[in-house]
Amino acid sequence: MNVASETGRLNGKVAIVTGAGAGIGKTIAETFAREGASVCVADINGVSAEAAAQELVAAGAVAIGVEMDVTDEDAVTAAVDRVAKAFGSVDILVANAGIQHLAEIADLSFADWKRVLSVHLDGSFLTAKACLKYMIDGARGGSIILLGSVHSYLASEQKGPYIVAKHGLVGLARTLAKEGAKHGVRANTICPGLVRTALIEAQLPILAQERVVSEEQVITDFLKPTIDGEFTTQAELADVAVFLASFPSNALSGQSISVSHGIHML
Ligand code: NAD
Repeated sequence: MNVASETGRLNGKVAIVTGAGAGIGKTIAETFAREGASVCVADINGVSAEAAAQELVAAGAVAIGVEMDVTDEDAVTAAVDRVAKAFGSVDILVANAGIQHLAEIADLSFADWKRVLSVHLDGSFLTAKACLKYMIDGARGGSIILLGSVHSYLASEQKGPYIVAKHGLVGLARTLAKEGAKHGVRANTICPGLVRTALIEAQLPILAQERVVSEEQVITDFLKPTIDGEFTTQAELADVAVFLASFPSNALSGQSISVSHGIHML
């Protein structure tokens, strides 16, 4: 990564990206660093968070890695306080950490229901609350970006708690937008389509076995509702995250933006 190669749209900003040890969050953290932000790479996997931050530092960025379970209030508060102390404040939050669990409601345990809801909903609430303290008290305003999904608008089988959580995040962003406007805090939800990360790869063998088809066929079926048969890329999502993070006014707040090659029109 060459941190000098982009346009500096986030120069002077401090960003926290959760679930940034891998996948979409990692790419957003890298892109933010290239755009000039100081970045906290936060992940429940402290080793991958540290490794991703070290990659950024080696490329000339300002970054720290932090082990953070977004469902643990004390861990979230401590990590956000640490970032604010290290970098002076917090301007941008990307609440990206997420998990999936495949089961129909009839077969889903209460524990798995709560686990999925907690990572997405509790995690976004806790990280937003901890960052708001700095965005509001410091009178700097800020940008909060939640990771929804096309499942913020649609349902499919076997993803009940994920779908409920992703619908809920749109409501959380709208509430944050209303409450944050007077403080210059904006909140929006990015709703990706299918992105080829570990979260998707883990579903392929399970669905292939259940449907008695190849994994390639599962992918073809997944992509049928797109307008062009394409996966959404991590870079496409990171571009939209930079756009939202750098947007200068409350004109764009409380929005959910589908970045999905058209799946949301299903
Ligand atoms: P991923 O599995 O590749 O990465 C998720 C990261 O989150 C991992 O590094 C993991 O360690 C971390 N994480 C998990 N639980 C955590 C917790 N409690 N606290 C902190 N970190 C935690 O997933 P991804 O595909 O990059 O997904 C990122 C976000 O994008 C998720 O919110 C997901 O729901 C959303 N999304 C993904 C897709 C897709 O097709 N991949 C589509 C729509 C939305």
